[in-house]
Amino acid sequence: MDFNEAKARAAELTALLTRYNEEYYVQDNPSVDDHTYDMLMHELADLEREYPALLSPDSPTQRVGGAASSTFAKVPHTVQMQSLQDVFDAASVAEFAARCRMLDPDATFSVEPKIDGLSVSLEYRDGRLVLGSTRGDGFTGEDVTANLATIRTIPKLLKDQLPLVEARGEVYMPRDSFFSLIKEQEENDEQPFKNPRNAAAGSLRQKSSAVTAKRKLDIFIFNLQQCEGKSFTTHDETLCFLAEQGLQVVPGRKLCHTTEEILAAIQAIGDSRQDLPYDIDGVVIKLNSLAMREEMGATAKTPKWAIAYKFPPEEKETVLREIEVNVGRTGALTPVAVFDTILLAGTSVSRAVLHNQDFITEKDIRIGDTIVVRKAGDIIPEVLRSVKHLPDAQPYRLPECCPVCGTKAVRDEAEAVLRCPNISCPAQLHKQLVHFASRDAMNIDGLGPAIVTALLDAKLVEDAAGLYSLTAEQVVELEGFKEKSANNLIEAIDRSRNAPLDRVIYALGIRGIGQKAAQLLCAEFGSLEAIEAATPEQIAAVEGYGSIMAESLYTALHDSSVSVLLDKLKAAGLTMPYEKLVAATDTFFSGKTVVLTGTLSQMKRSDAKKALETAGAKVAGSVSKKTDYVIAGEDAGSKLTKAQELGIPVLSEAEMLAQLSSNPGK
Ligand code: NAD
Repeated sequence: MDFNEAKARAAELTALLTRYNEEYYVQDNPSVDDHTYDMLMHELADLEREYPALLSPDSPTQRVGGAASSTFAKVPHTVQMQSLQDVFDAASVAEFAARCRMLDPDATFSVEPKIDGLSVSLEYRDGRLVLGSTRGDGFTGEDVTANLATIRTIPKLLKDQLPLVEARGEVYMPRDSFFSLIKEQEENDEQPFKNPRNAAAGSLRQKSSAVTAKRKLDIFIFNLQQCEGKSFTTHDETLCFLAEQGLQVVPGRKLCHTTEEILAAIQAIGDSRQDLPYDIDGVVIKLNSLAMREEMGATAKTPKWAIAYKFPPEEKETVLREIEVNVGRTGALTPVAVFDTILLAGTSVSRAVLHNQDFITEKDIRIGDTIVVRKAGDIIPEVLRSVKHLPDAQPYRLPECCPVCGTKAVRDEAEAVLRCPNISCPAQLHKQLVHFASRDAMNIDGLGPAIVTALLDAKLVEDAAGLYSLTAEQVVELEGFKEKSANNLIEAIDRSRNAPLDRVIYALGIRGIGQKAAQLLCAEFGSLEAIEAATPEQIAAVEGYGSIMAESLYTALHDSSVSVLLDKLKAAGLTMPYEKLVAATDTFFSGKTVVLTGTLSQMKRSDAKKALETAGAKVAGSVSKKTDYVIAGEDAGSKLTKAQELGIPVLSEAEMLAQLSSNPGK
């Protein structure tokens, strides 16, 4: 490649990487996987090495992260929050160790899991948490103190009151929390996060810390950035000190001397990867001696005393046998790749969602192709690309008609989704009935997918309301049923007649109305009549709703198969009870604005909130002049300080409980 070609390619790479950085760091929504990004970055670095004239201080190879967003106050970092130089093979690890040994032949290394989250700094002054910030571009981050304070493993107070301690750590989302979050997002028809790393970043960088608090984030500390009042000679000592102070330090680290020991530790961390409840994307190898770190120094972007060994993403080739088209509960047609089973990241995989026609066309995926599959973020299998077509393979087009009922499908342009518009489509009906009976909806014990199929095949039901006229005599005729099991099913259906209103609303399966949305709606309106009488504007004003959700709900309840079903359910005798919280007007707390802060020892914060609301209080998230009381549990932080500054009365948990028990408001 001559200079001009290199220049053109470098410009192309810079533009691409700049876009990917924006998507990843600012929007928390990457469009390419990390390995693809890493390879492009290396290609650019190689070009810049070959033609140093191409190198500018603005190049993505010279810059850390993304710019701090204007949503948060900007925080200058006293100690720059750098990135790490990444390597992908054992030889590069050995080279790094050899470089360090040139300075000190007895160098010791700390080998640590590389947690896949986002970097933050925690600043404690006189033992008290005063500032929490994101990395931003390494020099300036975002003030996310309030959001970080919602993470229970971040103490508000350290054990000792040293003048200054600044610790750096990785905020992450445990896999379980990630799965519940994306389930909820899918139910609410929101775009789900792609992996736990983006979910952690998106959740921490929320305007409302109440949202962050719900996201169940956690943190591991991996470095002491600054400390006044105590000195250390090794990294290991600093981490032991931080652990003693009450911070949660990165687990599974190992001190190593030889390259063999380092490589064995990398292998061991890699082997443990699937068993950890959180994602790691590599291993960090750091010099242990702090004096040697000083001596080795840093480049503009990375320290020279540490490297990150990145795990290669596990990708495998397989053959695409078929594209199955699934019909969802709301009629969406989703193509699914069915391929020869492969073992990926410890589990066998034979299917992966192909999303929509645009995705298939862009990757030109055809039946019979040899395809490359990987598990994105080690979680959801995805088809990366097609590497070979069969000689006679034709481009794939999704069917024009619903594969189950044959109705012509319509394209929902806003979502790039094809939908079967037939509300009586058996596939939709099946999924709707399974959803209706599910545990979080009507909780009809024993009514799973197989029995729903049997009921539909025997034409015993046509919709969910039909369940309520089933008899044990009809059910016992179905394969696999005996008298007792048939009676049990009828009893379970009967019990569900008294399911609370919010469950019934959720069970209706309205697009965008998940469990939480149904609960919020009922809390606002209190009865089905009130919900049915509400205008779209009134619904849009409900917490958590917007105009799209409001419109979807309004249309469903007034002019669709859902409203027909709801009428039938009323006729079938569903009682739909709902106990609306009626706030008391004659208690110590009635009409008062109260803020809860710190950790409560006698009850969960959500229970305290409920009890206060029952007693007539408005529970607010932040302290202002309008606050009447602040209730401070253990380790209360900035809210308590603010209350003291504003002269707002502070109650202990015991005082709150005493007031509540003298007149709970009910
Ligand atoms: P990095 O994530 O590769 O490594 C540095 C980070 O590792 C540090 O900031 C630190 O927060 C973290 N870390 C976790 N555990 C650690 C430990 N025990 N010790 C020290 N540090 C630890 O680098 P980066 O600059 O944060 O991000 C670059 C990477 O992000 C890229 O290599 C790529 O994988 C990904 N990325 C992807 C896209 C995309 O579009 N897919 C875009 C931008 C960046």
